[in-house]
Amino acid sequence: MAEASQKGEQVFRGIPVSAGVCRGRLLVIDRSRHSIGKRELTETELQDEISRLERGLVQTRHQILEVQRRVSQGMGAAEGSIFDAHLLVLEDRTLLDEVIRMIETQRVNAEYAFHSVAERYATTLAAIEDDYLRERATDMRDVTTRVLNNLLGLEDEADLRHLKEPCIIISHDLTPSNTAQLDKRNVLGFGTDVGSKTSHTAIMARSLRIPAVVGLKDASLQLESGQYALLDGFNGVIIVNPTDQTLFEYGQLIKKQVSLEEKLRDIHQKPAVTLDGHRILLSANIEGPKDAEAVKLAGAEGVGLFRTEYLFINRDVPPSEEQQFEAYSEAARALKPLPLVIRTLDLGGDKFLAHMPLPREMNPFLGWRAIRFCLQEQDVFREQLRAILRASAEGNVKMMYPMISGLDELNQANALVELYKAELRAEGLPFDEHLQIGAMIETPSAVIVADSLAKRLKFFSIGTNDLIQYSLAVDRMNEKIAHLYEPTHPAIVRLIKATVDSAHRHKITVSVCGEMASDPVFAPLLLGLGVDELSAAPPLVSPVKFLIRRLKLSEAKALADFALACESASEILARCQDLARQVAPSLFETK
Ligand code: PEP
Ligand code: MG
Repeated sequence: MAEASQKGEQVFRGIPVSAGVCRGRLLVIDRSRHSIGKRELTETELQDEISRLERGLVQTRHQILEVQRRVSQGMGAAEGSIFDAHLLVLEDRTLLDEVIRMIETQRVNAEYAFHSVAERYATTLAAIEDDYLRERATDMRDVTTRVLNNLLGLEDEADLRHLKEPCIIISHDLTPSNTAQLDKRNVLGFGTDVGSKTSHTAIMARSLRIPAVVGLKDASLQLESGQYALLDGFNGVIIVNPTDQTLFEYGQLIKKQVSLEEKLRDIHQKPAVTLDGHRILLSANIEGPKDAEAVKLAGAEGVGLFRTEYLFINRDVPPSEEQQFEAYSEAARALKPLPLVIRTLDLGGDKFLAHMPLPREMNPFLGWRAIRFCLQEQDVFREQLRAILRASAEGNVKMMYPMISGLDELNQANALVELYKAELRAEGLPFDEHLQIGAMIETPSAVIVADSLAKRLKFFSIGTNDLIQYSLAVDRMNEKIAHLYEPTHPAIVRLIKATVDSAHRHKITVSVCGEMASDPVFAPLLLGLGVDELSAAPPLVSPVKFLIRRLKLSEAKALADFALACESASEILARCQDLARQVAPSLFETK
């Protein structure tokens, strides 16, 4: 400590991407650039060199599949699916053909050719003003490092699997391969030179609930392993050699965090009920059967959204009816008697499969996705519907369709369900004859015809992620227009209210399962609008519950009345924030 004070405090500022504060020793991962030697080959060596390249690529593919398997098991299918982009790099024929051409025409070694071509692609991608494409450059470089390591017979340079002591990892850029290997117990926080709120590091850090700061410019060059530092993921700073005063101030924040965590743990098994006795159902979203345990630990009262597409994403061939039946039954049994709402396949949009390449579309979110895909690809849909029906005999299963845009789609899907029920009856396979079927309300047209839909369904679940995207015509993945993606836009508030009114007119329930339900700030608005259930990401169930238990329904209703009459998204947002901070200030302390 004395030494730290003598050296003086140094502050590095970046972008906060994962909340929390930690302190400890730094481990700077110096991703030393490979020095790639150029070697001239003779004519007779060329074929062997191309075979050597191919072996290196196969080895890399196996490694990536292995990392993907480990990540999917340890962190969840969504994180695992990040590696699909890496596998696609290895399958990129244009790139590989160019590498082979370079080996043949310039007679150079495989490492040199691969590095030259891949680095040119990566540099081009990195220069484009688009976060998504810049991430592809990171993917490209991550895969290149692996291929080169394999060709050069090198081990990965940083063994993050066996960290000797707890530390804060600092790096120029943390690749998904790095984070996947992390010995999580010993990682206190992350800091990287590059990155944005949507970068892999940010997404991983948030799902691991590890504080992280990105965009620290050249911090990795200035920092050294072993230095003592404090990382503040709320405000986006790293303070090296913090003074006693700084440590004291942060000590207060850390104490508050610890005490909040304790309070959140205390309410795990308690209901989501307001101070004036209004009870709502608080459930969680999952991506695979293994997540079901986390749902119970988080204190959720079931699963409001099982995104089944992740069962399809991480594999070479689509899962069979039997494999799906196993997965759905495992989740249903783990949760029983709590409900499990299984959403039928929602492919397309931003979710693609390695084994089932969908055609390139100008507007994938407006294209061949979700229920539209399933109604045309009936073999795929049949296997899934039969698997869900069969799993309904194993627990409290419900089913819903994504992206319903009108009555025809609902009628067609329901007719198929009846057909497969008849098949199962004939085969003597058990299922729940009263399986409840609902629809996601995520297109404006679905809201407008909600009365027609409600008559034929048992519940609605509002997918605010897509409803906002489609109603405001704002691509949910585009960082450039992220400021226009406003959950409190008056149009969204009114669409939610219209959905609730239609549902209640027909005596069915309505839930919200988009990200809005995971943000405690919006819980009062949604409750006030009459929503019966919220389905949040598991780590956010207890913060949302904590706030609801400190709220009065009358306050929520007053907020909703204000929002329905208000003409400004920012005014509605400010009111939501004020009320949330007023009823649960400890959730929002960042200083
Ligand atoms: C939504 O659109 O709000 C939703 C929950 O579905 P997804 O995010 O999977 O599209
Ligand atoms: Mg959706």
